Formats: sequence, C-alpha cells, structure tokens
Amino acid sequence: MTQIVIVGGSDAGISAALRVREVDAACQISVVVADAFPNYSICGLPYYLSGEVRDWRALAHRTRAEIEAGGVTLLLEHTATHLDLAHCAVHTQTANGSERVIPYDRLILATGATPRRPPISGIELEGVFFLHSMKSSFQLQRYLSTHRTRHVAIIGGGYIGLEMAEALTHRGIHVILLQRGASVLSTVDSSIGARVRETLDRHRVDVTTNAPVVAIERHGRRLRVRSAATTLAECDAVLVATGVKPETALAQTAGLSLGAQEAIVVDERMATAQPGVYAAGDCIVTHHRLLSEPRYLPLGTTAHKQGRVAGENAAGGARVFAGSVGTQVVRVFETVIARTGLLEREASAAGYSPLTVEITTWDHKVYSLGAQELVVRLTADRDTGRVLGAQMLGSLNSAIAKRIDVVAAGFHAGIMVDQLNDLDLSYTPPLGSPWDPLQVAAQAWLAERAAGHAAPLTSAARTAE
Ligand SMILES: Cc1cc2nc3c(=O)[nH]c(=O)nc-3n(C[C@H](O)[C@H](O)[C@H](O)COP(=O)(O)OP(=O)(O)OC[C@H]3O[C@@H](n4cnc5c(N)ncnc54)[C@H](O)[C@@H]3O)c2cc1C
Repeated sequence: MTQIVIVGGSDAGISAALRVREVDAACQISVVVADAFPNYSICGLPYYLSGEVRDWRALAHRTRAEIEAGGVTLLLEHTATHLDLAHCAVHTQTANGSERVIPYDRLILATGATPRRPPISGIELEGVFFLHSMKSSFQLQRYLSTHRTRHVAIIGGGYIGLEMAEALTHRGIHVILLQRGASVLSTVDSSIGARVRETLDRHRVDVTTNAPVVAIERHGRRLRVRSAATTLAECDAVLVATGVKPETALAQTAGLSLGAQEAIVVDERMATAQPGVYAAGDCIVTHHRLLSEPRYLPLGTTAHKQGRVAGENAAGGARVFAGSVGTQVVRVFETVIARTGLLEREASAAGYSPLTVEITTWDHKVYSLGAQELVVRLTADRDTGRVLGAQMLGSLNSAIAKRIDVVAAGFHAGIMVDQLNDLDLSYTPPLGSPWDPLQVAAQAWLAERAAGHAAPLTSAARTAE
C-alpha cells in the first residue's frame, strides 16, 4: 500500500490529503501537523478578533472528525524535525519529546509561512503580537480581553494590517496604523491607496505613512513605538503585520532547492527535484502566468489549488498547476479593494510597454436605488493591447471581487482590451449597466491609446451610464 506523508495541515496540506484520497482510495495518508488546528481558515482570524465570528471553531474549513472520516490520519502537535530523503523518512517530535520516524513512498511539504520579524528593537516585549495562526490569535484575544487596551499600534499597512485596523476599531479600540512606505496597501497603486486611506480616516484610524519603525519601548504600562527621529505611537499593544516568509528550514536542511525569498522550487506539477517529493502553498515559489520568472505569492486561494495538484500527482496523477495571476481582494470597513495581474510598475519591470487608465463610474444604473461610484484602473500593453492588470475599489455591494475575477479569468485566455470590451456580461439596472465598469475602462483605454499619448498616463472618465 502506498504511504503518503504530508507535512503541514493547513490549506495546502489538507487540500493535498483530500485529493490523494479522491484519486486513490487505497493509499495510506498521514498528515504531520505542528499545531492542534488542522484545516482552520486563518484568513478568518481578523473576523474572529473583531467579534464578527463569535466562536473560533466556526473557522474550521472541516472538523478533525470530518477529515479523519475520509481516511486521513492526523498526527497533531507533531513537529517534523528532519527529512531523511535518502531513506524516505520524516522524523517527528511531540511537545513532550517523544520521537517517531515515519516512512513514506511520496512526501508533500506544505509547511506554509511564518510572519516576518523586521529588525525592530523591543519586538519581543510583552504586548507585541503577530498574527498568523490560531495560537497567535488566541494570544492576542486573551490580551485584549484581560488588559485595558484602548490604543493599539499596527506596524504594516498591507491587507492584514488593514483588516486588523477594522477589527480593532469594531472593538472600540483606537488604532494607529504605521506604514513604512508612502501609501497604504502598496499592492495597489497609490491613487487607490489614497482612497483606502480616506476610508481609514473616516473611521478615525490614525495613519502615519513614511514611518519606518526602529524600536518599541516599554514605559510602565504603555508601549512607545519609535522611528529613528520621533515617537510614532504611545499605545497599550502593538501588532506587527509586515508580511510573511516561507517556512522552509526543513527543506533547506534536506538540500532541496530554494528560489525567490527562499521558497521551495517546484515544477508545474508541484514536484521538487527530489523524486517522490512534492511541495505546495506558502512554502513554495509560484508560477505567474504574466511573468517569465516564478514569484513568491503566499495566498490561501493559491495554496488550496497547489495542494490539490500536489495531492493528485503524489497519488500517481499528472496534473499541472495553471499558475497564479496574483488576484487579491480585501474589505476595509465599507470599502472593497481588488487587484489582478500586474501594476504598471511591475509590467514595466517585466519588459511590457504598459499604458494605464483610471476611470470612475457607477456600479449600476444611477436611477436604480443605491448606485455607488467605483474606480477601475486598467493596465494593458500599449503595443499589443494585451490586458496586464486591473485594480478596483468600490463599496461592499458593488461586486468588486467578482468583477475583478472577470479579468482574472480573462488572463487564462490571454485577453486583449477589445476582447474585454466585447464580453457578454450580465446586466439589469439594479445590478449593472449595459457596459460593465470594466468595459467602460476598456473603452477609455482604447481611446487613450488611439489618442497616441507618448507617456504612461491616467485619465479620469466619468459616466452615468
Ligand atoms: C490574518 C490572515 C488573513 C489572510 N487572509 C487571506 C485572504 O483573505 N485571502 C487569501 O487568499 N489568503 C489570505 N491569507 C493567507 C493564507 O491564509 C495563506 O496563504 C494560507 O494559509 C497558506 O496555507 P499553507 O497551507 O500553505 O500554509 P500555512 O497556513 O502557513 O500552514 C502551514 C502548516 O504547516 C504546519 N507546519 C509548519 N512547519 C511544520 C513542521 N516542521 N512540522 C509539522 N507541521 C509544520 C503548520 O502547523 C500548519 O499546519 C491570510 C493570512 C492571514 C495570516
């Protein structure tokens, strides 16, 4: 009987296990998980901490019993300490020190990522938190519930920092958001970032940009967050949300090849160069459909798909991961921001000749109740007309996520701007317009290119269509 061992029991690891079971009912599947929370949606942690999700158990994609009922053996609170690739075995250890060697025929590494710890003195102080696991969310929850916490500084204005700014504000906590760069949410262009900041301002989140934090100091019951020159925040707790790095110590020690940001190198089948060893999720480099080089793109949606591909292939299949196009969406209070593909600067760096337009239009016919404005930025190659990227910002009811997904789907067909304009998209006045906002942007882009502007430009086209 084929023995498949998976290290890691989150999005990628459990997706792999479930796919193995679907493809091969006979093989034995063991998942080695360092923590006690297999298959929890860590993407939901901000909503647990805000109180929107009342019981953390609701975050389970599947319960332990449901996974085990599928014939998957879960070895919880077992840390893989060493990979013996020569003898096809994984060495594990439990918290009480008991060791075990688990042989495998196929191995899938799904060890994910860990929070980056920027070089900030005092980062280890009590009252300073990271957020990446169920355990880390319990630590923060306990602190917020047992300490008088009125002001929290969040270091990092990426999507987790923003989701947590919303979550803590909902708890009645005053948030000071410290962003190293010039605008928040640097995964979108600064014109969109400026609008995100307006949303934060409306909700009394204090945002400081160009604020590189160098130190956190304790002064009595309070923490002081400092840049080299000035005090940035006086607060009761600090959340560090400065991104993640792949958890690849095991792979590195075993001699597996590492690539961008020290993530594991795999081929399109999720196979490493070591026969019988696969890897998936936040611990690997990812194929990007619009770029020639692999990228490190740690996202839950990608981890699920890669895990499924790794599982199928470990079970003897020949599945290929279709690649990522970097599609992301985030809710910040009543505002939704989404992107897919490349920003203009990324497109330029990749050798394209990008032209970007930005339009503001309505999410549906203005005569129909509740019409809201939304913003679309569309980037395409000036020479070929190939769509390279889209960014959108709008309100919760403006179907921002699903609209960006139209472009994401189009990337899989190498969509051109005029083809985007020609798509047969749905329309009824309370939900849309005869020309979807994406198509309004496509027309603005075609007009800009026809006008023959020499340099990249931004146009504001406004339509009540
Ligand atoms: C607050 C937050 C919000 C997020 N929101 C979104 C979102 O809205 N959309 C989105 O697409 N993505 C989101 N993400 C990212 C997403 O959660 C990750 O991309 C995804 O969880 C990656 O899954 P993974 O299985 O690769 O790794 P991880 O979730 O990091 O899991 C790694 C697993 O490996 C185990 N492990 C590690 N080392 C060992 C070892 N030596 N031995 C045994 N087990 C080990 C861990 O215990 C864990 O089970 C969010 C992340 C966070 C933290």
